Amino acid sequence: MTNTPKSPELRVIDHATCTFCGCVCDDIKLHTDGNRVHKAERACVLGKAWFLNHTAERAYPDAIVDGREASLDEAIEVAAELLYQADMPLIYGLSNTTCEAQRECVALADAISGIVDSHTSL
Ligand code: SF4
Repeated sequence: MTNTPKSPELRVIDHATCTFCGCVCDDIKLHTDGNRVHKAERACVLGKAWFLNHTAERAYPDAIVDGREASLDEAIEVAAELLYQADMPLIYGLSNTTCEAQRECVALADAISGIVDSHTSL
């Protein structure tokens, strides 16, 4: 007789929002065990990959400077110095970022005569 691993009890969450690409689809139906998403109904292929390949575990520290864990205050100070020294500061990324944070990034780019770009330009 073999022991088959028991499937985790899945909870269904209706109207979840996907923040991966910026379209912010808010009609996603997630099946989750509380740690990992097992199914993301109505999500596109990018959204499915995003939901199914992330867990609730913290994979990274709050900040990294030169490859080592750093405090947020230290990371902000280093970032400010880099931006201050830059000839053409670039504010880049912004996926998985709230509208409020994106607004702050645009304001920062304005303040330092920088430019803004997102990962979608890839
Ligand atoms: S990645 Fe797909 S599901 Fe997610 S917001 Fe964009 S279009 Fe919607």
